[in-house]
Amino acid sequence: MPAPARPERCRFAPTTSGPAHPGTLLAALLCWLDARSRGAELILRLEDIDPERCTPAHADAICAALEWLGIDWDERVVQSTRAAAHTGALRRLAADGRLYACTCTRAEIRRARLPAVDGGWRYPGTCRARGIGADELDDCDAALRLRLPDGEIEARDESGLDLERDPLRALGDPLLRRRDGTVSYALAVVVDDAIDGITRIVRGRDLAHTTAGQIALQRLLDLPTPAYRHHLLLLEPRGGKLAKLHGSVAWEQLREVYGPAELCGWLASAAGLQRAPDPIRPAGLLSGFGWDQVRRTDARVRWSDGRLELG
Ligand SMILES: [Zn+2]
Repeated sequence: MPAPARPERCRFAPTTSGPAHPGTLLAALLCWLDARSRGAELILRLEDIDPERCTPAHADAICAALEWLGIDWDERVVQSTRAAAHTGALRRLAADGRLYACTCTRAEIRRARLPAVDGGWRYPGTCRARGIGADELDDCDAALRLRLPDGEIEARDESGLDLERDPLRALGDPLLRRRDGTVSYALAVVVDDAIDGITRIVRGRDLAHTTAGQIALQRLLDLPTPAYRHHLLLLEPRGGKLAKLHGSVAWEQLREVYGPAELCGWLASAAGLQRAPDPIRPAGLLSGFGWDQVRRTDARVRWSDGRLELG
């Protein structure tokens, strides 16, 4: 008898640098609906590798918010416990001649005036000749960058979203280890997805431009490439990303006004999954869920008189 097919594995991977806000909860809901409607396993990965911004208290609060909303997961992993694997990947890249030491300041990168697709400045490649071997990694106190291969990456998104295909031209060589020795998101996410056996990545469109770079890194490390799907974002009325930095309302505040079914119903209507914001639990949305029902354009959200409002 053939071995039973292994289930797909999806992940929801919030950064634990602040409380959950409506955008976090919508992303979690869509990720959960995608995974559960396909019979996939769902991994909750708490991305906490930025020691200055991430705290265990935020991680606990995000988990509490997800449970409150009615979202469950099969495994919970904490990114900062993966340091050995992250270092192993750096060693491999260094041994393959792919890492170099970079001492450029932000001001120096800005002065090169190469616009990046994320609205910042692209790294101009100044330090590319300063290759670092695997045996030099421990003693190197400069930041480390990846020398990306030239050329386009065939990056596909299930929703048909047009992805940037040339990571070098889009963002420049990514930083993989900072001067303080912490690894970057760009490296950790690729290594962790492989360790967790992730086969599907569902995430907000704000990360779509990183896909080609992640695929390039997966190839350099001989890691499999998952399927990608990017979904709508909740935006501020003026179009900026709804983020905690811009005064977006946190879950602690939301739950004073909304019950879990009410908030889930509101999120479902914002995503196009139901016409009116009628109260419903995530499990109630499962049977009819399909990505063809999910709104493709971003939704603008206001916090008005203590309620969330669209438009
Ligand atoms: Zn440099």
